Amino acid sequence: MSQLLDARGLVRVYTARRGLLGRPARVRAVDGVSLRVKRGETLGIVGESGSGKSTLGRVLLGIDAAQKGTVHIDGAPMPAFGTPGWRALRARIQMVYQDPLAALDRRLSVAHQLREPLDIHHLGDGESRSARISEVMQSVGLRPDQAGKFPHELSGGQRQRVVIARALMTEPELLVCDEPVSALDVSIQAQVVNLLADLQRDRGLGMVFISHDLKVVRNLCDRVAVMYLGRIVEEGPAEAVFADPRHPYTQALISSVPQPGRAANSRIILQGEPPDPGNRPPGCAFHPRCPMAEDSCRRAIPETRAVGGARSAACHLVAPAALTEPA
Ligand code: SF4
Repeated sequence: MSQLLDARGLVRVYTARRGLLGRPARVRAVDGVSLRVKRGETLGIVGESGSGKSTLGRVLLGIDAAQKGTVHIDGAPMPAFGTPGWRALRARIQMVYQDPLAALDRRLSVAHQLREPLDIHHLGDGESRSARISEVMQSVGLRPDQAGKFPHELSGGQRQRVVIARALMTEPELLVCDEPVSALDVSIQAQVVNLLADLQRDRGLGMVFISHDLKVVRNLCDRVAVMYLGRIVEEGPAEAVFADPRHPYTQALISSVPQPGRAANSRIILQGEPPDPGNRPPGCAFHPRCPMAEDSCRRAIPETRAVGGARSAACHLVAPAALTEPA
């Protein structure tokens, strides 16, 4: 599989005010993130809210500009936001948002909204655009008679299918999905996840799947990256990470997912408050909640290092690959 997305050293810092009279604080929402996605590969990005997952998704698409770092698509650098080069690239990299009602225009019919990307990117003529709309609607499980419907006339699941169809209209190579099923009823989440899996496999798409739902990520993704306060603390093949998480934060997250054969009392309950992106602890940012924290964790930021099996982790206590793999 060839490399499709190659992001290195991404940094995105915001200034945010806490409360009405609070002092502005610098929030390093994305703090030195590097990741790669091959064609036909799905990378899951997981972490609690405030970990920077959604900001990272926007940075990968160039919607939110990184202050540092680079994004390459198919070996070419991402053009600056809003430039003709970036607009042309957007046909090849699309986003599926969490809330379909917010992502769609309530005043426009399904057909109108699906035609828009073709108009914007000057793809096809009138006849071929209509054929493309029918083809994509069918591929996401929408009926032809729903083309004339408006968003409020559809169910939540159907609206998300429209959002996915809209993202597919330009035949993208990379799809960034930001919590694409979290606003849907549990009963239809599985349908939409299965749909994404089928589309990804059939079309050989590269996919970044941002989610807090570890069960979905385990079933859908080839690789998984775990984020904590803007950094990737562990990354590797999903099967290996779920079977044998190395980073204490990953271990806590994964212990909360029910698994056959795992005792209910084996769940690791994290102490302390959820992370505050505007108040990053010194040293390892996870140390106030880490059950294994040592003195050195409060002083030094752990480097990301290979830990064997195409995996990496950022923790002082995780042995590097050289110590775990035979020479
Ligand atoms: Fe825990 Fe220390 Fe590892 Fe951070 S570096 S995850 S505090 S053991």
